[in-house]
Amino acid sequence: MSMNQKRPFIPLSSDTESKPTPAMRQAIANAEVGDEQRGEDPTVNRLQERVAELLGKEAALWFPGGTMCNFVATKVHTNPADGVIADWMAHIIRAESAGVALSSGVLIEPIMTQSGIFTAEEMRQALHRLKTVSSPYGPPPKLVCVEQTHNFAGGTVWSLDQLKSVSSAACAEGLAIHMDGARLLNACVATGVSPAAYAAQVDSVWIDFTKGLGAPIGAVMAGSRDFIAEAKRYKHVFAGAMRQAGIAAAGCLHALDHHVDRLAEDHANARRLADGLKGLAGIHVMTPEPETNMVYFDPSGIGISHEVFLSQLQSRGVRMGLVRGAIRAVTHLDVSQADIDAAILAVGAIAQSPPESHAPMVSNAGRQGY
Ligand SMILES: *Cc1c(COP(=O)(O)O)cnc(C)c1O
Repeated sequence: MSMNQKRPFIPLSSDTESKPTPAMRQAIANAEVGDEQRGEDPTVNRLQERVAELLGKEAALWFPGGTMCNFVATKVHTNPADGVIADWMAHIIRAESAGVALSSGVLIEPIMTQSGIFTAEEMRQALHRLKTVSSPYGPPPKLVCVEQTHNFAGGTVWSLDQLKSVSSAACAEGLAIHMDGARLLNACVATGVSPAAYAAQVDSVWIDFTKGLGAPIGAVMAGSRDFIAEAKRYKHVFAGAMRQAGIAAAGCLHALDHHVDRLAEDHANARRLADGLKGLAGIHVMTPEPETNMVYFDPSGIGISHEVFLSQLQSRGVRMGLVRGAIRAVTHLDVSQADIDAAILAVGAIAQSPPESHAPMVSNAGRQGY
């Protein structure tokens, strides 16, 4: 629990609910700062070097948030009316208000998967749909996007082999490959694969500091020196240049030092939650073996709507979210093992109470960030 703020509920709706810890606030308070737009913020510069090294790339660039990284990467890798290939449930398609349509003017060819992880063959089929079906009238394919971990598929992880296979197929077809690595470090902690090993398979990659890493602001994108130079230009075009951003970057540096290894606790808590929910009548756990920090489940068997379930849950002191027509719970550094046990009890109590007692009580339950 951060500072002395009273917590209205156990915050399981998203790992974006994580708040800066007292130690992180201390690091933020002590940050050395300068003008980020002029490249003069020493804390931002240190963070960029740190992330470039972590990801084994030539350079890295600070951003106010991850959505802008996806927009800028797409802009750098494509021209207007080009084709982009991504999983059909990718964040870039489902949760960024069609921003790449506005900012890059691209058309996305979706690949339908269950897991969010597609094969080289599925990628080639998507390419075939773009290129060959109506050739020469289809959009020229330029870019493949992968999401690590895959949010709306349940926090699923690309193995290094799966990524290598898609990466070499993309390279053979002359396509650039971009990783939305919002939760790349969750994948690394879950698999033991190094961030640089994953990053070596893609042309551009970013990590988010505002998810399980617990910082209030910031994402950093890495790539070749040329890519980052172009990215810098479009960051400015998209109004992402900042001033004393070291205030925020100090929180990110603190997170790299203190909040990476502990992601394993979040993964253990997600497994504990899934295990606890599996035993409850009326609950179907869609991620019975969570790979990282997300649990998706369907409480329809209780006989109430998802909205009513969420408001009941919140009135019992637990907030989860409605994502993709299911209930999503996401673990993070502000959720303890005891919180998980309390959440299981709360769901169990709803599952056991008679349906007529299920009146909605909280009107905004389920609204959340991703
Ligand atoms: C949160 C998220 C983003 C967007 O990042 P912001 O920092 O919130 O802008 C992009 N992709 C995925 C997979 C995410 O979970």
